[in-house]
Amino acid sequence: MTILAPGGTIGMLGGGQLGRMTALAARVMGYKVVVLDPTPNCPAGQVANRHIVAPYDDERAIADLREAVDVVTLEFENLPVATVRRLAHGLPTRPGAGVLSICQDRLAERHFLARLGIATAPYATIVDEASRAAAASMVPFPALLKTATQGYDSKGQRRIAAVADLSTAHAQLGGVPCILEEVLRFEREISVIVARDREGRMATYEPAENVHAAGILDTSSVPAALPASQAAAARELALTIAQDLDLVGVLAVELFVLPDGRLVVNELAPRPHNSGHWSIEACRTSQFEQQARTVVGAPVGPTELLAPAATANLLGDLWKGGTPRWDRVLALPEVKLHLYGKDEPRRGRKMGHLTALGPTAEAARERVLAARGLLAPG
Ligand code: AMP
Repeated sequence: MTILAPGGTIGMLGGGQLGRMTALAARVMGYKVVVLDPTPNCPAGQVANRHIVAPYDDERAIADLREAVDVVTLEFENLPVATVRRLAHGLPTRPGAGVLSICQDRLAERHFLARLGIATAPYATIVDEASRAAAASMVPFPALLKTATQGYDSKGQRRIAAVADLSTAHAQLGGVPCILEEVLRFEREISVIVARDREGRMATYEPAENVHAAGILDTSSVPAALPASQAAAARELALTIAQDLDLVGVLAVELFVLPDGRLVVNELAPRPHNSGHWSIEACRTSQFEQQARTVVGAPVGPTELLAPAATANLLGDLWKGGTPRWDRVLALPEVKLHLYGKDEPRRGRKMGHLTALGPTAEAARERVLAARGLLAPG
């Protein structure tokens, strides 16, 4: 297939905010979007041409989607690989089932990274009681216990203070396969977003510096405060990963920067990422347009950063005292408001984000945090 012409239809597995922003970018370019997601009125479903409301493994829904679209993409990785495989009979799936099966399983991901000689935090695998005992003797405490699959925003994760707590914590996580990982004292967390097209051309975005609160991304700012050589090394890692995965699409690499300068990969996400939302305002091609471009078979667009920028997430917690004071933020022409169309502002739920540009990343971050501070009612 050459480039899918506008008017063609993109199938999207998953209907969250990442799918919503990708769908919006695709629709700007004249594509139609059909979303498969079990939740009625999901964020991407609201802006798609059509929303198939069904579980991801529903045979009829998969057949329906296959009939309706020209190409398939995804917006999160906790999906049945079998669904992507089924759709891959006859349709380009970007990214493919192979990428998904690696990135949705921490163990597969670790093996993949180890094969490339890329460092991760020291860890041990836990699948049963014997391996749990072995892991406890290999990894120093405190440690992190993470489920191999289905983890996000620190769900499926427990901090284990001492070996005595391990078996209870493992049981609390359902006794599923896990990794026990050393807690690293890192200097900063960064992420690099990389895009790769079907011809194998690649582009990386400026590394972003990420600050988490209670295990959930709070702010991302660019450029990260890194020496040029370290920023280049992080981008190089992302290129190596995308190339080896034979990725077509967008992928985020989350990294820890250790005090001695070493880069350690924490996680891969084969889709646009929360830590790249600033690319909408601050780059020539946003991560979402990039996803749409690569999915339809177009070449990657230019990724250079036009200005330092920062994004702050808006979690459901902000609604605690009532509806946030949108008027105060909308009164600031420099701050951009993004809301995802979610009705229920639950604690820890990502409802939207703010992005601001600035003369430096730190100034942009201060600006966006000040804006978010105005949202509390009263
Ligand atoms: P994850 O679900 O693996 O992305 O982890 C969520 C967040 O927990 C990360 O962004 C870090 O802030 C923190 N974290 C995860 N793994 C480690 C680790 N090995 N050492 C220290 N902090 C970690």
